[in-house]
Amino acid sequence: MLTYYEALEKIIGHSQTLPKVERKLEEMLGYVLAEPVVAKFPMPQFDNSAVDGFGVLLRDVENASENSPVSLSLLGEVQAGAARTHTIASGQAVKILTGATVPSSVEAVVMREYCEENKGRIVVKIHAEPGENIRRKGGEYPAGTEVLSAGMSVTPPVVGLLASLGFRSFAVYDKPRVAIIATGDELVPPGEPLQPGQIYNSNSFALRAALQAFGIEPTDVLHALDSAESTRAAFEKAIKNADVVISTGGVSVGDYDYVKDVLESLGVQTVFWRIAVKPGKPVYFGIVHASASSNQKLVFGLPGNPVSGLVTYHQFVLPALRKLSGCPAVEPKPATAVLGSKLRKKPGRLDFIRGQVRYLDDGSLTVEPTVGQDSHMISGLAKADSLIHFAADAESIEAGSKVLVDLLQWWS
Ligand code: AMP
Ligand code: MG
Repeated sequence: MLTYYEALEKIIGHSQTLPKVERKLEEMLGYVLAEPVVAKFPMPQFDNSAVDGFGVLLRDVENASENSPVSLSLLGEVQAGAARTHTIASGQAVKILTGATVPSSVEAVVMREYCEENKGRIVVKIHAEPGENIRRKGGEYPAGTEVLSAGMSVTPPVVGLLASLGFRSFAVYDKPRVAIIATGDELVPPGEPLQPGQIYNSNSFALRAALQAFGIEPTDVLHALDSAESTRAAFEKAIKNADVVISTGGVSVGDYDYVKDVLESLGVQTVFWRIAVKPGKPVYFGIVHASASSNQKLVFGLPGNPVSGLVTYHQFVLPALRKLSGCPAVEPKPATAVLGSKLRKKPGRLDFIRGQVRYLDDGSLTVEPTVGQDSHMISGLAKADSLIHFAADAESIEAGSKVLVDLLQWWS
């Protein structure tokens, strides 16, 4: 059986970043820049004031202080957005509001708090340094600067930066189209009555929410019954419409587990089936070879148990989605935490124990396993914010030991 790291490497190796698309500013959060952001103009575009105050000549306020204020005549006012400027001469000042153009004759802007205005004159009670409170044209960056490089995730400040440069849309890597298939005769949609032996289909909703956290609406959310025909029909439809197909259940060694055989009969090439992890041993990963016009498609057969499905989505599917979307970092990056209580298990598989981390005053982390660690107990995952790595060959970890934890992060 593959180790966690071997499986992850294969998945990432088979995931190809999607082509560039143009996205409007209001739709680009969570995408990744496919081109560098180059400034079309200097920032700021014109000299402007950092404060509400008065534009002065340095020599006029050279000796100004609380005890010997200087009186200047007020020539006029520049508001933010106004095109008009003034030329001041010695003995004159101009009122300038924050963000308003600073006339070229002004040598410094004195904050309004240090001045008093009265009947067309102002009294200045402080001296000024050259250029004080003036944000110079190009002071942040000159025209032509590469302000951000390609490959950066689009965060709210990145959207703000693009808007400040006047971009209405920008080139980003496309996000994959993803389909979800839940398999199982026992599944009933939440909200409908349950007959004996039936359970609610929680995986479809959990995975849909996970995709939404990543900024993806699934192309299809399908239910396959435990028959070869139904499973085949669902996968055929899902593979046709999507770049990535995620199924849950039916991938183990039960009599009604059709996923792997159906996928192979559909021409999906198995990359691996089964990994030495817990939860998640039966994970299936396959690829559909690319046609000339499209990227290779990925198929993940995740286990049916709700915790197994979501944990393996987080550990294996998300890295693939990140790679497809052009994200700079694709794999979970474990942090170190001090374990709160002793752990035991049988050796053989890397166990992802659901945990809750807490930051101590010195900034270090502790982690406590949540109650409900079995792979059907979604309550234990719902309370968790992290996965503790319990190494494959280890049988116990003492409380107080340092452990690796992957913080559960569902977004890009
Ligand atoms: P399977 O891998 O199909 O044998 O499923 C393993 C366990 O997960 C069984 O107890 C199933 O009832 C349960 N299960 C499978 N699919 C779902 C689902 N979509 N929602 C909730 N539980 C599920
Ligand atoms: Mg099943």
